[in-house]
Amino acid sequence: MAEKVYTYVIVGGGLAGASAVEGIRERDKTGSILLAGSERHLPYDRPPLTKKLWFGQKKVEDIFIHGGDFYGKNAVDLALEEKITSLDASKKTVADEKGNTYRFEKLLIATGGVPRKLPIPGADLDGIRYYRYLDDYLRTREKAKEGSSAVVIGGGFIGSEIAAALAINKVHVTMVYPEPYICSRVFPEGLGRAMQSRFMERGVEIVRDVPASFSQKGDLFMTKTKQGGELESEMVIVGIGIAPSMELARGAGLETGDGIIVNEYLQTSNPEIYAAGDNAFFPYQALGRPMRVEHWDNALNQGRWAGRNMGAGAGALEPYAYMPYFFSDLFEFGYEAVGDVDSRLETFADWRKENDTGVVYYLEGGKVRGAMMCNVWGKVDAARELIKKGGPMPAEDLRAVFR
Ligand code: NAP
Repeated sequence: MAEKVYTYVIVGGGLAGASAVEGIRERDKTGSILLAGSERHLPYDRPPLTKKLWFGQKKVEDIFIHGGDFYGKNAVDLALEEKITSLDASKKTVADEKGNTYRFEKLLIATGGVPRKLPIPGADLDGIRYYRYLDDYLRTREKAKEGSSAVVIGGGFIGSEIAAALAINKVHVTMVYPEPYICSRVFPEGLGRAMQSRFMERGVEIVRDVPASFSQKGDLFMTKTKQGGELESEMVIVGIGIAPSMELARGAGLETGDGIIVNEYLQTSNPEIYAAGDNAFFPYQALGRPMRVEHWDNALNQGRWAGRNMGAGAGALEPYAYMPYFFSDLFEFGYEAVGDVDSRLETFADWRKENDTGVVYYLEGGKVRGAMMCNVWGKVDAARELIKKGGPMPAEDLRAVFR
């Protein structure tokens, strides 16, 4: 079996991995780089898969992070459909399923996460779409003709965004989720219920239940729910969360928990091995606690930061202090959010138009921990400052920031 030697090996051809190339090249113009990704596509952005590709605002060719020539120009060996299956930290090698090995000086594990599967009969039927990848978009798009039908399981980010996108494209959508209202992990109840009504006004049916089984009748899927409901549809799309990919780290004895544990420089328990993106459990400086962030802006910046630190000489490491934001578009409602936007926190909503335009603050001990700017744009930095400042924050002071 072949063994190749690189200065840097990046496992994971998503946004964090592609951004790490830029980070490395900011510090080291010449060290050899292997970027190994398991998908067949060049690294691409995921947000358009549930948003702009459906709104006619982007085409597939617009979503690639870099053009194909970027990798050659930056002396990167790009290996697509290359699944790395093991890591030997002491030998400093990774290997693929065919037994090819790659030796590294520094390694980045940017393997993201995989969609959780439903533990029910029929969950593995071909066509039940655990929506995450470009191929999921391509296959869904083929079937999503005007007047077709879809059952969407899960009321989180994927469920809400793909349901809205399909409804906009005149697909008849039924959502199935157990929570009392949509996006309940982030929206406070008033906003969540108002948003749920908005979905229903746009023709989305909502079933508060969980699926019990899937079966197939010709081109149609039958979803049976726990409470006895039966839903027939041409498409079934599932978004019930992801599990961080930690097999390589675990197999190599690196420290893991709710993700691969990294320090402020994004180094794992082995300082030559870094992790970034959806699978990295990192010290979130402004919030003063470690967490994992499964959003685009974190993958972009953390990947780049890990790359910079990998490419830096000893003593030149820089802590990752960035505060990632995220965004969503649900019909005419869009928002940007930063910090800890957990609906279990106390919230204070400052609406200019109720449950439509304004800012929701997430508070803990009187301190602002997170903010969601609803149909309010260009305020992410102001929100970051509020969160960094900490300290008790009277409502009037909060209002002043955004007016
Ligand atoms: P998610 O946002 O965590 O939502 C999963 C939802 O599925 C939760 O509401 C969960 O409810 C529900 N659920 C769990 N088990 C279920 C079951 N058996 N039946 C029905 N519903 C069930 O995850 P996601 O929507 O799958 O998104 C995947 C990842 O992509 C996430 O990391 C997300 O951050 C990312 N993403 C981000 C964006 C964005 O930033 N705009 C957009 C799309 C995707 P409980 O809360 O009760 O568990």
